[in-house]
Amino acid sequence: MSALLYVLILLVPAAFASGWWTARRAGVRRSGVQVSELSSDYFRGLNYLLNEEQDKAIEVFLKLAEYNRDTVETHLALGNLFRRRGEVDRAIRLHQHLVSRPGLSDAMKTVALLELGEDYMRAGLLDRAETLFSDLVAMDAHAPSALRHLIAIYQHERDWHKAIEHARRLEAMTGEDESGMIAQFYCELAEQSRQHGARQEAREYLRQAFACQADCVRAFMLTGRLYAEEGQHVEAARVYEQAVEADIAFVPEILPPLLNSYARSQQMEHAEHFLRDILERYHGISPVLALTRLYQQRDGDRTAIDFLTSQLRQRPSVRGLMALIDATMDKIEGEARENFLILRDLTKKLLEGQAMYRCSRCGFGAKAHHWQCPSCKSWSTIRPIHGVANE
Ligand SMILES: [Zn+2]
Repeated sequence: MSALLYVLILLVPAAFASGWWTARRAGVRRSGVQVSELSSDYFRGLNYLLNEEQDKAIEVFLKLAEYNRDTVETHLALGNLFRRRGEVDRAIRLHQHLVSRPGLSDAMKTVALLELGEDYMRAGLLDRAETLFSDLVAMDAHAPSALRHLIAIYQHERDWHKAIEHARRLEAMTGEDESGMIAQFYCELAEQSRQHGARQEAREYLRQAFACQADCVRAFMLTGRLYAEEGQHVEAARVYEQAVEADIAFVPEILPPLLNSYARSQQMEHAEHFLRDILERYHGISPVLALTRLYQQRDGDRTAIDFLTSQLRQRPSVRGLMALIDATMDKIEGEARENFLILRDLTKKLLEGQAMYRCSRCGFGAKAHHWQCPSCKSWSTIRPIHGVANE
């Protein structure tokens, strides 16, 4: 939608210009009921654009550009349309032509450069895009937009140090708070260090992540993981509990390692207490399944099944049903068992096709959790879906 708005904003001056130009040529005054042919073309193009009929819109705007060779805005709008339609080569040629045009004002030239940078990004020519956006930042022309694009490039290249540096510059320039995003960059660095066995370095990056965002769930989870890998499960469990307190929505991600640390540090009484407490505040199925397993191991099948059945009445869940079938299976024989097996298969298939997570920003559905949305590239926006067939 923002791209569409952008095209519209670019086109409004073009429409006025074209109306004025035609009116002047025809020797008529603009007041009165004269509606120029080009203005009506413009509104026809606009209509196509609003109806997402980009092919027809391009046709109309090409005609406008033909009549108005000097109208930079029309060319910019056209280039934007080409890029949005995936005709990146055409967009690049058009914008390069604009940039090299003699007599172009500095303001228009930098707009064209910004567009060209976006073309390069879309074409995967990240080096060229980086150079161009860096030049724009150095010229202090459209610097916030250029910085946002540069940050996107560094994220793509996983150059987290540069991403952090540019995000801080963006913060200083716009006054907007980017600390949540910067905390994620530090978590990426911490994860890299952890994987390379540089544990002290990982802890230092996590300290920086917390300095940016004191309740960073991911930083808590990584800290817990570092403790768990060193066999310090009491500390690990404590930090995982802090992760739950920081954002209870991440319970499905946090519970498996937390339960592992509880088990390894013989804290199962405390585990029951903590899970019971979550049950009051969180309406998904994960804590129910965790408690069911805990009761099964400690008190046997009967207690576990009774608990699960009573919970499923309050919070219907396909995953809960699956757990119930699994727990009951051993007690059933003959034809009923065959029917249960069919039911189990069906339930499994139903769950397999199901997105378990959704981006709260763009609606992207995912089966696994991502810290960065693969579609809109936002951080920490992918959350468990709550519903009968999900969490
Ligand atoms: Zn998204």
